[in-house]
Amino acid sequence: MPQAIPGGWRKAAGRDCLTAEIAEMSKPSVKKMEKEGESRKYPLNQIYFYLTEGCNLRCRHCWIAPKYQGKGNSYPALDLDLFRSIIDQAKPLGLTGVKLTGGEPLLHPQINEILEYIQTEDLCLTLETNGVLCTPELAEKMAACKNPFVSVSLDGADAGTHEWVRGVAGCFDEAMKGVRSLVDVGFRPQIIMSVMRHNKDQMEQIVRLAESMGAGSVKFNVVQPTARGEKLHESGEALNIEELVELGRWVDDTLSTKTNMNIYHSHPMAFRPLGKMFGENGDGCSVCGVLGILGVLADGSYALCGIGETVPDLVFGHAATDPLEEVWNNTSVLLELREGLPHRLHGICSDCLMKEICLGSCIAQNYYKTKSMWAPYWFCEEARKRGLFPEARMFQEGIIRDGRNYDMVQAPKVVRVKSGSA
Ligand code: SF4
Ligand code: SF4
Repeated sequence: MPQAIPGGWRKAAGRDCLTAEIAEMSKPSVKKMEKEGESRKYPLNQIYFYLTEGCNLRCRHCWIAPKYQGKGNSYPALDLDLFRSIIDQAKPLGLTGVKLTGGEPLLHPQINEILEYIQTEDLCLTLETNGVLCTPELAEKMAACKNPFVSVSLDGADAGTHEWVRGVAGCFDEAMKGVRSLVDVGFRPQIIMSVMRHNKDQMEQIVRLAESMGAGSVKFNVVQPTARGEKLHESGEALNIEELVELGRWVDDTLSTKTNMNIYHSHPMAFRPLGKMFGENGDGCSVCGVLGILGVLADGSYALCGIGETVPDLVFGHAATDPLEEVWNNTSVLLELREGLPHRLHGICSDCLMKEICLGSCIAQNYYKTKSMWAPYWFCEEARKRGLFPEARMFQEGIIRDGRNYDMVQAPKVVRVKSGSA
């Protein structure tokens, strides 16, 4: 549930409090920025297209909670002409790649045309799917795009567990077929598992299954307390912070040593060994790309990301009426983020040595919980309250003054990890 805004924030920060004004601010501002300079400084690297309002599964942990689209019903999907027009407008702003997600992106009635346009426009493709609709023909089309990266969700190593989480009978076998279709055309897809009480004992089995199918990596996601995931947290089915911290250590120290595959987990950077993320043997880390990303919802709205489905405050306009350049360069929420990240972050994120890279993990998630864009990430805040946040990752007076340790953390080259959560 939404938390109280940290004490003193409104009083001390004055105009910085976004809660009251955010609906107004999210419209393109009449105050013009120096557009060219803004676009150069903040290129629009990637667009996340939430192509469909519906989904053919009904997962217990879904952070967006799309409508269930079974046989015989359908829900809005992004208009193809609008999709093309957004791409055409975004390329001069710096667009190099798109992510297709949902709902379930492969439910889009013109998914073939969408993939073809991405290929024609020479854009990198990232696609998050539950795998059920991934036919050999669609896999071929994905493979024809530039640097394609596809992730498939498997929440259990057997049908019973996977389908308990995903809510639709038969979806395990279909997802497995989808993975095979991808592997057959040369992909080494990423398998994503959202870990909860019901499936946590199958994590190693998922790695073995992924290996046997020819996947390239496995990522373990923390269930976010958003939309349906919020209910899982309330019911106790989501793991508590002690369990999550322990599980992260086990993945880094034990599970990842038992396989040649890359194993990732979505724990915040402060909880990961530096050697695992940076340097020669580092496998990278998830870096918040919020300053170079824009979301497009299935109805054609621009939004911070898919969370706009459940948080209308973070919707910035509509592709049919608002020029993308205007939205990208002049939307007040985006300007505030560019000015304020990471120094305006609150709570544990304000004290964290990783904040320059991590940027508070997920602004949309933080806003959903608190109605403040500067709120700390729930995982780290909760860990600090329980005495579980690693002290070595926090600013201390001496460190700030002499700057040495801070520099040490900032210096490593960041390797971006592609990952997702369909
Ligand atoms: S405290 Fe905030 S900035 Fe630091 S790792 Fe956690 S989410 Fe990221
Ligand atoms: S997690 Fe993905 S597959 Fe499951 S309901 Fe949500 S959008 Fe659909």
